[in-house]
Amino acid sequence: MTVSTRTPSAPVAPSRSRLRPLGLDEVAIRGGFWGDRQEVNGRATLAHIAGWLEREGWLGNFDLAASGRLPEGRRGREFSDSEVYKYLEAVAWEIGRRGDDAELEERFRSVVARVAAAQEPDGYLNTRFGRPGQDPRWANLEWGHELYCLGHLFQAAVARVRTRPDADDGLFDIARRAADLVCKVFGDDGIQSICGHAEIEIGLVELARATGDERYLRQAQLFVERHGTGVLPDIEFGRSYYQDDIPVREADVLRGHAVRANYLAAGAVDLAVETADEGLLDALERQWTNTIARRTYVTGGQGSHHQDEAFGDDFELPPDRAYSETCAGVASVMFSWRMLLAKGDARYADLIERTLFNVVATSPSAEGTAFYYANTLHQRRPGEHADPDEVSPRASSSLRAPWFEVACCPPNVARTFASLAGYVATADADGVQLHQYAPASIRTTLDDGREIALEVETAYPAEGSVRVRVLTDAAEPWTLSLRVPAWAESAKLVVRRNGEELVQTWEAEPGTVSCSKAFSAGDVVELEFPIVPRFTSPDPRIDAVRGCLVVERGPEVFALESIDLVEAGIGATDVADIVLDASMPPREVDGRVLVAVRERHPEIASWPYGDETGMGSTAASVQEVALVPYHEWAERGPSTMRVWIPAT
Ligand SMILES: [Zn+2]
Repeated sequence: MTVSTRTPSAPVAPSRSRLRPLGLDEVAIRGGFWGDRQEVNGRATLAHIAGWLEREGWLGNFDLAASGRLPEGRRGREFSDSEVYKYLEAVAWEIGRRGDDAELEERFRSVVARVAAAQEPDGYLNTRFGRPGQDPRWANLEWGHELYCLGHLFQAAVARVRTRPDADDGLFDIARRAADLVCKVFGDDGIQSICGHAEIEIGLVELARATGDERYLRQAQLFVERHGTGVLPDIEFGRSYYQDDIPVREADVLRGHAVRANYLAAGAVDLAVETADEGLLDALERQWTNTIARRTYVTGGQGSHHQDEAFGDDFELPPDRAYSETCAGVASVMFSWRMLLAKGDARYADLIERTLFNVVATSPSAEGTAFYYANTLHQRRPGEHADPDEVSPRASSSLRAPWFEVACCPPNVARTFASLAGYVATADADGVQLHQYAPASIRTTLDDGREIALEVETAYPAEGSVRVRVLTDAAEPWTLSLRVPAWAESAKLVVRRNGEELVQTWEAEPGTVSCSKAFSAGDVVELEFPIVPRFTSPDPRIDAVRGCLVVERGPEVFALESIDLVEAGIGATDVADIVLDASMPPREVDGRVLVAVRERHPEIASWPYGDETGMGSTAASVQEVALVPYHEWAERGPSTMRVWIPAT
């Protein structure tokens, strides 16, 4: 492992790792697919979240705590404090992304002041526990989420200190006082237990990285190592629900609650990297590999049980019951990003891309003010518009909802989008690596002092062409590496100087293509890979989609919506009555992806089993219908929808 001496302005800042993340002060996304989403996030989503936190009283809980009026009037679930912290984290990254913004800065400080006022003299901070009339502190570790909330507080504080190191708002001190208390209460000689919802592990390691205080790292280690030793009670979902069934270094696959599982894995990678624990890192690599091979939807979504928001068995991936919580997508990106930094393997960046485009980008509406919590792959009923003024009680809404009783997802999307530039590129001793493609400006200094500036131009994912313009001269060669996505059938790398081709490389294998040169300012490195729509088949062990195909184009998964059947003049108005003609490959016309389909006329039978000929007929005529990128589905109103389409 290489040792890096600089702290990036990024969510994850390993003190040593294979790759060093480039932070928000080194990478800026300039428009395009992700830049547009960052803009909507900053303009609309953050204000939307702040409005609901106020309206639901979750911010007000801190005021009640400060004025000694709790428990009377406290509102929201036991973990509502965490949404305030995730909002703070999102705003901290947004301030870092935008540069100076007095109004946003003022909003940030006003929320921090309200949080600060609620902190107890010994550092304890939670509006739900510990006061007369409330449950005592740490009395309900399995469901209470006290440590979980603090983990989010720590991440917010770290985001702040990495984007505004000189800020005097006090958030970092609030976090440190709370962390000191946690170390005292849960340390080697303290309560030998864990939080039912992993998250504090990530926060503690990052706080250790930001302060150099080894106690926080040790505490994270204790929490990670205690998982799987049966310290929490057995519950109706089993101890696997909170990963207290098998020690982290012995597990083969992620299981239980999908967000908890991924947060724990992410924190464990952080710990493994900081403590150079190769055995632990190997265990996490194994878990990542098996989870992707057997327990992940084609969208990158994870979690196929609604009841406990959990992973199912291997290959248990029903599209119509997909839970695929938005937060599980965010958490999976966090796990994969940490593995990428530790190992440098392009497959982690591939999954990040898949999950960002097809889970995280699916959640928010185009306006950024309504969200999916669960992300089904098959909507059987058109559903109804959510009232923009009402809290949705259900995670599985058929159309995006403005807010939820459990509102973990909206601020999770917000903090991810605000910090997205921190997931685009990395550096090592030898050069720069591009992992995600977006129009971007990149400027960094290698460990030996060499400065590198790049301008990335691309219309990705509409087009599979990435142009990297080098803006700096180099006396010595350095290496620019670009990811060739796993789905790309071929890729071509060309280096041009004054219009002349210097290097041309064909890379048939997905992975990484690299070019080492003493680049001159003005050199252009072009990576091209074809992006055309394609059919994708499922492993036959995924019983629920056997006989179906999905259409993908580049990193995007596509969906069939009933509204497009009407548009195409097809008699059937429900996606249930459509089969795909697999003999005709999907094609692209004027930017729209079209597939050939036939109508099915099912019989209304009194018993839906029996001789196949009695189940209805399929029309002989073939018609074409347009699909939409899955992340755009339900933007035009109620529709039935399916990602996996039965094929003939
Ligand atoms: Zn969530």
